[in-house]
Amino acid sequence: MSRIQVQHLLHMAQRHNQQLAILFLDLDRFKYINDEFGHYSGDILLKKVANRLKKLLRTKDTLARIGGDEFVVILPKLKDVQEAVSIAEQMIESLQAPFLLHNKDIYISASIGISMYPNDGDDGETLLRRADRAMQKAKESGRNRFELYTAKLDYQSKVVTLENYLRKAIERNELFVYYQPIVNMKTKKIEALEALMRWKQPNIGFVSPAQFIPLAEETGFIVPITKWLLEQTCIHIKAIHSFAPHMKVGVNISAVHFQQDDFVEQVSHIVKANNVHPRFFKLELTESTIMPNAEESVQKLVQLKRYGFKLAIDDFGTGFSSLSYLHRFPIDILKIDQSFIRRLSLYSDDATIVSTIIMMAHNLHLAVVAEGVETEQQYEFLNKQQCDMVQGYYIAKPMPIDEVQQFVQEWDEYINER
Ligand code: C2E
Ligand code: MG
Ligand code: MG
Repeated sequence: MSRIQVQHLLHMAQRHNQQLAILFLDLDRFKYINDEFGHYSGDILLKKVANRLKKLLRTKDTLARIGGDEFVVILPKLKDVQEAVSIAEQMIESLQAPFLLHNKDIYISASIGISMYPNDGDDGETLLRRADRAMQKAKESGRNRFELYTAKLDYQSKVVTLENYLRKAIERNELFVYYQPIVNMKTKKIEALEALMRWKQPNIGFVSPAQFIPLAEETGFIVPITKWLLEQTCIHIKAIHSFAPHMKVGVNISAVHFQQDDFVEQVSHIVKANNVHPRFFKLELTESTIMPNAEESVQKLVQLKRYGFKLAIDDFGTGFSSLSYLHRFPIDILKIDQSFIRRLSLYSDDATIVSTIIMMAHNLHLAVVAEGVETEQQYEFLNKQQCDMVQGYYIAKPMPIDEVQQFVQEWDEYINER
């Protein structure tokens, strides 16, 4: 079976508007038979297997052995996927009867993955890779069965790779912290920095937090990562205090972490052990983190406040968004989600929403941060609405720690000149 043959078959299928199936077949436990009876007997068995499979095929079908115990079958001119499924079922069944080897009955089974042209790809390599991926799934699901390729399989294998990489990220020093300035609109000074996690995986490059944070949350890995980040920020904030003594730092906290029984102890322990006062820390939590177990959440938040931590609601407006609930939580700061700021134009509904949120937050004695401020227009609007703080590319993008000092000092010079 050459590449040109496969291309030709795909070409024919395309021209006649037909489907084509690639079956990737792998024998289960073949290695055991090889070890037990030797390679020579293994080869005899493979030939017998091939003969049984051939009996099920039409003359236009192709059967090829492509590796040790791997076969590929090409079924052109199919009406639908059901025809491929039916052949795969027959193959599995045909291998169930024992093979005679050295006067012994040998039992063997196969796992089969199926990919279809044009649904799963339009070139031979993609189709083969996807049939292989489906075959692995069949193995994982208990062998002696077939699986159809779905895009979900590729997604799952990508996630598995990323997950394995993520487990090694801390020890391999692939994680670091970026800081984004938050400006006080009255004093114009940089009042705080939000700590944002960055991951540079050597094989992939930068992986976005939008990708790896949810994964870290699913796997529970967010807990050690956040502890690591807290320790880093303790070290960094002490250095920052040498030139900006009042600087605070915001740290994002995930729901799975917050919901751990000893969350409060974990966080306060790290900060204490590093000799930083908790009042320099703003813990950013989302509504969906604190709402589900409101009673427990209140207790934890009260404890954190007692230690001196500042508390912020992050991405406000995207979750339950009930300001009426908020007064039950001892929160200091509300961060308006950037989606509202992005759509902000003076006459839109979003402008009304934003100014209403600011007003209500002030009535509840909360300070308001607007996130994602990118333009002067947005900045001026928020200033008029007496928003307390802004964060966004208009001020600065998140930056590595070694750029923070220069940025803060230049910013101070800039506002002093005005
Ligand atoms: P977030 O906490 O709401 O952080 C703000 C995000 O908005 C950051 O994205 C920041 O880079 C981005 N941003 C800031 N200003 C602007 C702007 O003007 N325009 C635009 N388009 N974007 C702006 P980033 O760093 O990619 O983080 C995304 C999210 O990932 C964060 O949203 C947070 O939910 C999560 N995350 C990041 N680091 C951590 C962490 O250490 N722990 C946890 N649990 N979550 C984290
Ligand atoms: Mg945040
Ligand atoms: Mg946010």
